[in-house]
Amino acid sequence: MTTTQSELSRRDLIKGMGCGVAALMLSSAMVAHPELAHASDGEESDSAWGILIDLTRCTGCQSCALACKETNDRPNPNQTPIGLDTDAYSFVEEKQIENSVGQTESVYVKHQCMNCLHPACVSACTVGALRKTPEGPVVYDADKCIGCRYCQYACPFGVPAYEWENPLGLIHKCQMCADRLAEGESPACVAACPNGALRFGNRKQLLAQAHAQITSNPGRYVDKVYGEYEVGGTSVLYLSPVPFSFLGFPELGDEPNPRYAEAVMKQTPAIALTVASVVTALHLFMQRRQQVNGEATVHITSQKPGDEL
Ligand code: SF4
Ligand code: SF4
Ligand code: SF4
Repeated sequence: MTTTQSELSRRDLIKGMGCGVAALMLSSAMVAHPELAHASDGEESDSAWGILIDLTRCTGCQSCALACKETNDRPNPNQTPIGLDTDAYSFVEEKQIENSVGQTESVYVKHQCMNCLHPACVSACTVGALRKTPEGPVVYDADKCIGCRYCQYACPFGVPAYEWENPLGLIHKCQMCADRLAEGESPACVAACPNGALRFGNRKQLLAQAHAQITSNPGRYVDKVYGEYEVGGTSVLYLSPVPFSFLGFPELGDEPNPRYAEAVMKQTPAIALTVASVVTALHLFMQRRQQVNGEATVHITSQKPGDEL
């Protein structure tokens, strides 16, 4: 190792640890003052968007999940996803349900981030890498993320996926196609559904439509819109022909989930803060090392034939 590299290593590690300490102090402040954890909460605005998923109309064709992969530039765009991970932000699961006459029926359930109204992931993130927008999507900023994975622990739906193979560790999840919404388009999954199982629109209007559908179609739906109240409400809503518990939907209270995030932070402050500090240090160190390697490459390739190295 050259002197420059060794100085760089020491300097960047110290700098990284300094930032880690900053993260630690921020985390400590959040533990001591839980109201800070609510600073990024999203109160539902009248114009917020939502997606209504009607499980009675879904045939499991997978068009939505494949469109999601394509839109988000995920690998193997023609391969049907079987779970939420870094390669797939949405998937459709087949559930076998016994109907009232004892026959087995399939119900297909599309999964993705619920883009909660009060997202626990946002409250758990100490560096503001996740943010609830007034339009509805919960968006992610990879440049701010330190890979601490608090969001993974906090999410009650098990949504955020972590890039284990990447030393910088990034999080992946559906962001409700925020870029498409900004262009006046609907989410890619909604646009791709050939059966009208996905509807995009104003969340409050979708809720009113969902309840009207339940009332005007006796026996077709259970009398509940999942996501209306769960964890304070979610941007993604579901209508179902069978009780949601039959389909494995988590039974969550109406309490906004930032409370859970705070619980995570309070229960493990020492461990969590140490992890935040170390991960931040490593993150900045790796980032700086990649930059130095890049600079070195530029320097070498700028040598002319015959120049001394
Ligand atoms: S489902 Fe999980 S990842 Fe998505 S917004 Fe809610 S808490 Fe965040
Ligand atoms: S809203 Fe966009 S990112 Fe989310 S599941 Fe649909 S296509 Fe995928
Ligand atoms: S595209 Fe529509 S019908 Fe096909 S799996 Fe997705 S939600 Fe179901």
